[in-house]
Amino acid sequence: MSEESGHAPAPRELIGLPYDALEAAVIELDEPKFRAKQLWHWLYHRGATDFAEMSSLSKTFREKLAQHAVVSRPGVSSHHVSTDGTQKWLLRFADGNEAEMVFIPEEDRGTLCVSSQVGCTLTCSFCHTGTQRLVRNLSAGEVLGQIMLARDTLGEWPSPKEGRRLTNIVMMGMGEPLYNYDNVATALKIATDSHGLAFSRRRITLSTSGVVPMMQRCGEEIGVNLAVSLHATDDETRNELVPLNKKYPLKDLLEACRTYPGVHNARRITFEYVMIDGVNDSLEEAERLAELLRDIPAKINLIPFNPWPGTKYECSSWEAIEAFSDRLAELGYSAPVRTPRGRDINAACGQLKSDSQKKRRSQILKEQREQAAAPAST
Ligand code: SAH
Ligand code: SF4
Repeated sequence: MSEESGHAPAPRELIGLPYDALEAAVIELDEPKFRAKQLWHWLYHRGATDFAEMSSLSKTFREKLAQHAVVSRPGVSSHHVSTDGTQKWLLRFADGNEAEMVFIPEEDRGTLCVSSQVGCTLTCSFCHTGTQRLVRNLSAGEVLGQIMLARDTLGEWPSPKEGRRLTNIVMMGMGEPLYNYDNVATALKIATDSHGLAFSRRRITLSTSGVVPMMQRCGEEIGVNLAVSLHATDDETRNELVPLNKKYPLKDLLEACRTYPGVHNARRITFEYVMIDGVNDSLEEAERLAELLRDIPAKINLIPFNPWPGTKYECSSWEAIEAFSDRLAELGYSAPVRTPRGRDINAACGQLKSDSQKKRRSQILKEQREQAAAPAST
């Protein structure tokens, strides 16, 4: 907030500043350091976005804030509610870039799926986000702002102690969170601060495609649950599905899981496994999966592949998914199948960033196939 000659500096975004940076900002405004605590309370416990509301702050401090700072939320390009209650937002950030966020209500919880990047630098062959060319990291404020926007929509300010609808956060939207580590870490540390949004670390899960060198740090510094997008049981198949595997092969990935901080204190790692017809869904692979995870406290999540326009893959048959899950159960793993949610609004895993063209195009292809298969009329 320092003055440059002749120009008033742009107001500074306060959301996403770590506590010590907020203190420094308060000191720059010639206010005593302890005022940062009050400001923090308004920002993260009360969810205030207008300085005028912050009644415990002096009038002069509020005026200085209004002049030099802003508190914002991501803009919303569109917001849809699915027939199953799932909500999807297309967010629009200040520079016009967009990313998606999804809220999934269930009986005993409500999970917010948060994006970490616009697009993704990685190119997993089964993921729609991976085909998007435009990529940038979201700032800490943009990651945190998603959670705060969801709280605005759900009417959950001040931070409720009990009876929250938004109970869980998963970093499973667009992007690879461990390739935007610093910003994601800053955002999640603020989200778990007990004087603010007060999410328990146990209710936050970060999903990675396997950025091995960052996993240890993530566990030590952020301390959230880890989900690993495994999807294959041999390097050859995984190289095709998750090309990052060429850099960090299965052996290294599983070793990083074995040593993930806290993993032996009842904090199990979730292994995500997307079920793709004829690619990774044989019973032999179910057995190999159990074998690979033998010495890792693990949960397995089977995700039916969600198709998108132009993909070469198809979802495994229901019988194949059930047989895979049953075999894992025989081997001692409960492997629930994740029911796709919000499919009607393209909010399911891997569908993010798809648009209404999708339905039309797949519909056309289906009709073409049906026509080709129909006997020629005379
Ligand atoms: N980049 C991180 C987090 C975002 S992806 C990661 O890859 O883990 C969130 C989850 O959705 C991952 O498990 C990913 O593998 C899965 N996913 C991506 N595309 C999918 C699709 N088309 N169908 C089903 N799941 C998909
Ligand atoms: Fe990126 Fe995850 Fe999609 Fe892979 S699955 S392209 S890492 S978002």
